Amino acid sequence: MPKKLLVLGGGTGGLIISKEVREIAGPGEVEITLIDKKDRTDFRPSYLYVAFGYRKPEQVSVPLEYVKRHGVNFVKAEVKAIDPANRKVKTTAGEFTYDALVVALGAETVDTGFPHTWELEPSLKVAEVLPQIRQGHVVIGVYSMPYRCPPAPIELAMLTHFYYLTRGLRDKVKITVVHPMKRPFENFGPMAAKWMSGFLQQLGVEYIGVGQNPAIKALGKNELETATGEKIKFDAAFIVPPHKAPDPVLNSDLAKNGWAAPRSPANGDFRSEKYDDVYVIGDVAAPNVPVGMAGTILHSYSPWVVSNLLADLLGVSLGKPPFRIVGTCALDVGAYGMAAACDFTPFVKKLKPYPDCMFLPPSPVTRMFKEMFEKIYFNWLLGVVP
Ligand SMILES: Cc1cc2nc3c(=O)[nH]c(=O)nc-3n(C[C@H](O)[C@H](O)[C@H](O)COP(=O)(O)OP(=O)(O)OC[C@H]3O[C@@H](n4cnc5c(N)ncnc54)[C@H](O)[C@@H]3O)c2cc1C
Repeated sequence: MPKKLLVLGGGTGGLIISKEVREIAGPGEVEITLIDKKDRTDFRPSYLYVAFGYRKPEQVSVPLEYVKRHGVNFVKAEVKAIDPANRKVKTTAGEFTYDALVVALGAETVDTGFPHTWELEPSLKVAEVLPQIRQGHVVIGVYSMPYRCPPAPIELAMLTHFYYLTRGLRDKVKITVVHPMKRPFENFGPMAAKWMSGFLQQLGVEYIGVGQNPAIKALGKNELETATGEKIKFDAAFIVPPHKAPDPVLNSDLAKNGWAAPRSPANGDFRSEKYDDVYVIGDVAAPNVPVGMAGTILHSYSPWVVSNLLADLLGVSLGKPPFRIVGTCALDVGAYGMAAACDFTPFVKKLKPYPDCMFLPPSPVTRMFKEMFEKIYFNWLLGVVP
């Protein structure tokens, strides 16, 4: 009888683990079932491209049915409860048991009613709002941390800058970022913060660092109030919504401090704190690693998850993969791109106060890299280019 691997979540984490396990273990050894409440999976970084009209929604999302190409079963169902003590998962399609469970349910966004680029539908609303503003004040507000892809609000600001610049309206539209961090990119270290502050100044983008989390106390139709009491009027606001762990995780004993808790990420162990047969990976666990919510980060540690999973399920040893927790974020600035590549390993091991980051300065090649990454992502994970 094959061992049962149950994967919750068909986003970046669930897809990487399903594919990488299947590359080593055949269906006769491990039966893999992936569950997601949606029947499509998105390349989230391209929500920005949807907002600015570079992509249609169907170009940044593909059917999850494609996992069947890798010999992985797909069930469209909402996970309602996880009961690790009894190795059971309750879903809208019934109850599932497992020999090993991977929880990759990501982070959930809480709707504030404002458009943003952290989900697909609200990105289409950004696309509607942008042309309506021909003069005035556009605010990009980060409600609270953590949220998916820490540099993405800055990318949204830079693309907004480019949007109005190319329409000859930039001098009529003021752009402000409101953020919990006092300085942009502060979490990447003082040099990064200095560099990004200078770059935003050069673009004429105002940055209001509130220095409190949550940064926003109240949100009105045309005004927001920061946690420090500053009132900011706007003609349009794109608000990065608060993020939370999905309820089935919060209501189980897999959670600590509001997020799933991996056992010892500094040593490559992403088993849950309490259960040997449950792995918690990706955004749902990121704050407890602690790293930013980024698909590239979870890809960097996936060999450890796969190696431990196969040892648990089949008793085979793949040896110890090299251990590096790294993340890359390619930012589109309009005509060109920039990239940040960070090694979080010394930070996660508490050897350094910041990750080691390298920045690729603005260049058209970096923008091409971002576009290529989008195509490679689906092709690599699901064998399809939308
Ligand atoms: C604008 C933007 C730009 C980004 N840019 C970058 C970048 O440049 N580099 C980078 O590394 N990362 C980037 N990211 C972050 C990256 O997309 C995420 O970190 C990554 O998708 C996390 O993968 P995950 O598997 O943990 O969660 P997700 O990909 O969010 O997948 C979670 C899955 O679980 C499913 N799910 C949730 N709850 C349930 C339930 N109860 N039942 C069933 N299914 C459920 C969801 O439908 C979803 O499919 C960006 C994100 C955004 C929004």
